[in-house]
Amino acid sequence: YVKQHGGDDVYWYNKSIIELNADHLQLEYELRRATIEGQFVTYYQPKFALQTGDISGFEALVRWQHPTRGLLQPIDFIDAIISHKLSLELFSQVATQIAEQLKIWQGLGFDQHICINADATEFSNPEFFNLVSNLLAQHQIAAHHLHIEVTESSLMKRHSNVKKQLELLKALGVCLALDDFGTGYASLSYLQEYPFDFIKIDKSFISKITADKTQRAIVNAILTLAEALDMQVIAEGIENEHQRDLLLAMGCQYGQGYWFGKPMSAEVATDMLMQQHLSKNNRD
Ligand code: C2E
Ligand code: MG
Ligand code: MG
Ligand code: MG
Repeated sequence: YVKQHGGDDVYWYNKSIIELNADHLQLEYELRRATIEGQFVTYYQPKFALQTGDISGFEALVRWQHPTRGLLQPIDFIDAIISHKLSLELFSQVATQIAEQLKIWQGLGFDQHICINADATEFSNPEFFNLVSNLLAQHQIAAHHLHIEVTESSLMKRHSNVKKQLELLKALGVCLALDDFGTGYASLSYLQEYPFDFIKIDKSFISKITADKTQRAIVNAILTLAEALDMQVIAEGIENEHQRDLLLAMGCQYGQGYWFGKPMSAEVATDMLMQQHLSKNNRD
């Protein structure tokens, strides 16, 4: 059975193995063309300092501007990117867009950082570190303006080189975040094994935080642990004010989620920075 998105409808139907294989080849072909033609577009989701309510940075989230199927979300193509070994190419394209955006914001006087998502398969490539350090040098970007997020689930694949590359990046000054924290099987051991600066608590914990005592206790434990380890915490998936208020009261430093803002185009993100700048000037 194949789930098919057609317009607003989602329906299910039977496909033969031959048809499925053809779909597979078609997707691989289209992805290769997308990387050559540069069809990937970076969206930006703001992160906020919960204490002050200020934007603290942005997370880059990739979309695929497909020539016929419209704007596709990562769930529709990231796994295929990884299995066809195109992830370093995707990373390089997203990172280049980020570098250009950081330059634009710097020119406007906005001192922001941007966070990029990377799969551990990318780190296993020894070229990864060179790619990042060359990009920073070429665009004259200070390393701390680039953050890299790695998910627990991708670390679970245990690729060689990952630790080495993360340590090199850290030494260069890039900030590292452990994404989707709490969803893997070895969350705690990753904290001692790799040099992370930030922990991102997965949205599955945040969604039930106001109603569920157990979820609240888990988030509290993560906050205590992070403090002891000198790491900062970002709560993902904040969808309402109650969650924000509770996380602030619990001492969580940063938050991200639809309540603050959905992933947006670079232009809309720039507008958001400008509005924050103007309203601060009015306050002072
Ligand atoms: P992630 O890094 O954990 O990113 C957070 C995801 O949650 C994003 O989905 C974001 O749009 C969504 N989100 C943010 N706030 C809320 C909220 O309040 N409620 C809910 N329900 N969802 C929220 P998105 O953009 O579809 O990305 C999905 C995943 O795809 C990302 O999860 C990340 O792992 C991966 N991804 C995105 N861009 C890239 C990329 O450039 N490279 C790689 N390797 N992976 C990427
Ligand atoms: Mg992320
Ligand atoms: Mg996440
Ligand atoms: Mg995720």
